[in-house]
Amino acid sequence: MEKITANVYVENKISWCNSSCVVTKEGVVIIDTPMVPAYAKQHAAEVGKFGEVRYVINTEPHGDHISGDCYFGGALVTHEGTRDAILASKVEDFKVMLQRTTPDIEVDKDFKYRPPDITLNDRMTLYLGDHTFHLMHMPGHTPFQVVVYVPEERTIFTSDNVTRVIPFFHQCVPDAWLKTLKQLEKLDVDYVVPGHGDVGDKNCIKEMQNTVNTWLNTIKDAIAKGMTKEEAQNTITMEKEFPNLPRDERNIGVIKMNVTRLYEILTKQGG
Ligand SMILES: [Zn+2]
Repeated sequence: MEKITANVYVENKISWCNSSCVVTKEGVVIIDTPMVPAYAKQHAAEVGKFGEVRYVINTEPHGDHISGDCYFGGALVTHEGTRDAILASKVEDFKVMLQRTTPDIEVDKDFKYRPPDITLNDRMTLYLGDHTFHLMHMPGHTPFQVVVYVPEERTIFTSDNVTRVIPFFHQCVPDAWLKTLKQLEKLDVDYVVPGHGDVGDKNCIKEMQNTVNTWLNTIKDAIAKGMTKEEAQNTITMEKEFPNLPRDERNIGVIKMNVTRLYEILTKQGG
């Protein structure tokens, strides 16, 4: 775990997403949990040293943020849409996913999808010890993203609305995403904890605006040139736009998925 401020810790070595921990006088708040069961258990033991886990917040519905929830105590808080997604998740699918990503680690018998206890649709504020947790529904990466702002630590947990690895657009709401990033820029914070990758400052938000705009503009250009979806899938590699992005098999697959999904969304919108 990396210590970010006096009371904020972020784990990103054993978790797929950033799993964060805020230590208050009255217990611990966890923001997203490690995906792989063995690592989630290990991390739950680690954060237990800081005190009792009082709340777990999931910032989005994707498996890399929610699958470790069952190994943590406290009340589970999510957006209503994330709750629906968790209730619809199947352990069998998780087993298949895990086999692909970490073939040497099995799903243990304790694993289950944990139904959230408390949901929000717009905003919610949790008070614990001397800390305030502003939970804000800010769609973008998915329609159900929740951003967590902790003013006492001058820290914002952005969910995958800000990510420092390749972004996933398969469930995105493009216009809302750009609006969310504009709103995030206005917050008076020193630390930005992205959904994935290193913790940074508010420059991360600017970088993300550029990234989202570059993706959108590239696909819009292809549509304007009259490219079909198949042509876009086969010719858009984003190599020129993102030369530093590793060209491994996984990223190449994600690029194809993003191109496909953005093409579909933007043509439906008449873009
Ligand atoms: Zn996600």
